[in-house]
Amino acid sequence: MSAVMVVHGGAWAIPDELASASVSGVKTAACEGFSVMKKGGSALDAVEAAVRSLEDNSVFNAGHGAVLNSEGEVELDAIIMDGKTLGSGAVSSVKNIANPVSLARAVMEKTNHMILTSRGANLFADSIDVSTVPTEKLVSEFERTEWEKHKNYATGVKEDFNAKWAHDTVGAVAVDFDGNVACATSTGGIRNKMVGRVGDSSIIGCGGYADNFSGAVSCTGHGESILKVTLARLIMSYMEQGKAVAEASELALQYMGDRVHGAGGAIVVSPSGQWAATFTTERMAWAAAENDTLWSGLNPQEKFQTPLNEWNL
Ligand code: ASP
Repeated sequence: MSAVMVVHGGAWAIPDELASASVSGVKTAACEGFSVMKKGGSALDAVEAAVRSLEDNSVFNAGHGAVLNSEGEVELDAIIMDGKTLGSGAVSSVKNIANPVSLARAVMEKTNHMILTSRGANLFADSIDVSTVPTEKLVSEFERTEWEKHKNYATGVKEDFNAKWAHDTVGAVAVDFDGNVACATSTGGIRNKMVGRVGDSSIIGCGGYADNFSGAVSCTGHGESILKVTLARLIMSYMEQGKAVAEASELALQYMGDRVHGAGGAIVVSPSGQWAATFTTERMAWAAAENDTLWSGLNPQEKFQTPLNEWNL
């Protein structure tokens, strides 16, 4: 059984000035996650490491680089799920946390609950000594400028996710050398969202799902649309009906477009190591590491190949 790691940096109309940093960020994260499995780590360890790398990179809308809500605050959502046990942990509307994916993992491993929100998530973080970061440290210059430009428009959560107001959530899926799958997703949500708005990313079956019997999925796109069609579970159910990973994702994204006019993207891995990165927005930065190859893309139908070597592992 060989391991596979796939990551995305969000599905939206990524402007040219962010394109190359987005692709290089997802490639680095895929290599970091893959190297965790090469050293004996599990798929769960790998998706956490890959998403932490993306959260630490301010080009992406998660952790550092997160978008601002209507009051100019950062509120973060994240989920992690272990396909071996169906254990899952999530946080929503949490503030001042640099790596919400690790807090989500702590919810899974150290509490009897699956989602902690807002103040409760922050109280839990304090109780396990997760250090906080001031909001200004999480906000990039790009986001501050965009928010100032758009804050007077009622464009927060738009139906058309191809709009430039959107920003890039991050996610990872993996299958490890033992055949276990996992997923993780992390986001600042959508710029100008209402205070307390929770999108799809922290909701099981919507922003992500992982089951060793079917595979693992991480989604991105217009959260309200993803929630309406439970996108991650929809992709899985197509896979459970025998569809290949790419076809399952295409059918589900197509359905979301037809049924609720929502655009988005998904990365998927099957227990046997088949994988796909699919989107209906203009662009999605993604990368996949398997055997000795690193794959990546940004525009529709794009698939570049570079050797995975000691240097990038
Ligand atoms: N799905 C995320 C949300 O609606 C946004 C994104 O994927 O960029 O919160």
